[in-house]
Amino acid sequence: MHTSAAHPLSGHGWTDDRDAEFSVFAAAGLTPARIARVDRGRCDVLVADPDTGTLRTVRADSRPVGDPDPLNCPCTGDWAAVDLAAAPMPTVSALLPRTTAIVRKTSGKRSDGQVLAANVDTVLITVSLAAEPDLGRVERFLALAWESGAEPVVALTKADLAHDTEHILADVRGIAPGVTVLAVSAGTGEGMDVLRACLHGTTALVGQSGAGKSTLTNALAGTDVMAVQQTRSVDEKGRHTTTTRELIPLPGGGVVIDTPGLRGVGLFGGEGVAMAFADIDGLAEQCRFDDCSHRSEPGCAVAAALADGSLPQRRMESFLKLQRENEWIASRSDARLAAERTRRWKMITKSARTPRP
Ligand code: GDP
Ligand code: ZN
Repeated sequence: MHTSAAHPLSGHGWTDDRDAEFSVFAAAGLTPARIARVDRGRCDVLVADPDTGTLRTVRADSRPVGDPDPLNCPCTGDWAAVDLAAAPMPTVSALLPRTTAIVRKTSGKRSDGQVLAANVDTVLITVSLAAEPDLGRVERFLALAWESGAEPVVALTKADLAHDTEHILADVRGIAPGVTVLAVSAGTGEGMDVLRACLHGTTALVGQSGAGKSTLTNALAGTDVMAVQQTRSVDEKGRHTTTTRELIPLPGGGVVIDTPGLRGVGLFGGEGVAMAFADIDGLAEQCRFDDCSHRSEPGCAVAAALADGSLPQRRMESFLKLQRENEWIASRSDARLAAERTRRWKMITKSARTPRP
């Protein structure tokens, strides 16, 4: 029996706690696995090869998990209990509880979301230094990251192309309270050691197309990407298949999740916005009235911060916009919120027309 330190899945974040959680499944003859990829009832899972102690990819049937709610369906990053001996093919019997989940909110009638990646420790937000950054977009990604339960880190990429790195660093740090913001260059290697030191367990990269996600992933993974591609496994029909690229191991431990769905992710919900705007939340706590709308009430700390310039107008507008979107998304899957949304919209539209004090 492996200890977790030596466990082949420890690079993926398999811990003593997970081992303990798994004991009931182990007793039932099931094998711990990490789900790399899911498509239409089948998935690729990583399991430890008992002979070599290395990881191999196995094709498994994931339908027996059998929960109709898409939120409970297997997804990339999930820890699973797999029956390798099942006929006619290995089978995912159960999923372990998720520590974090990146969820795309959907408007479906039967569910309010789809999980894009599970058990992510760090959401690495990439922003190119080659152009003036869109701070509102960064704030949106920060809200998404906080909402997932993972820790956000911002990598300002292509530092070798930047003219004014310090200035942009200061701007982005100003809108990312409590978040590590680094300038890096995959080209020259600048900042890469510090970035590597910030990443542990499972990292998911998000960012606009062209921000440098692929280049950064390759730089982080180094030669190991090649090793992944050369690893072979056997699927249920005995054919050799190349190992999935969705979970890319890093030389210093840890993995990068790279799934197509994550790349275009833009929606979120829940508490993420409040966490991304913790400064505004903190100000709101100092307002005289608990239900202050920060528009015209006396003793409003938010209005005071806007007036003295310590809270930029741009950031406040970005906050209101994301908060509105959040409510819109939530209300589409929850009819009870629809009336509330209309009411608030009217309030916002009205106060937008009223000149500020
Ligand atoms: P993605 O769409 O986010 O995956 O972005 P890519 O990784 O494909 O990068 C977009 C473009 O930026 C490509 O032409 C890369 O060669 C370039 N690029 C990425 N990282 C760097 C860097 O550190 N320095 C420079 N000069 N160019 C970079
Ligand atoms: Zn207020």
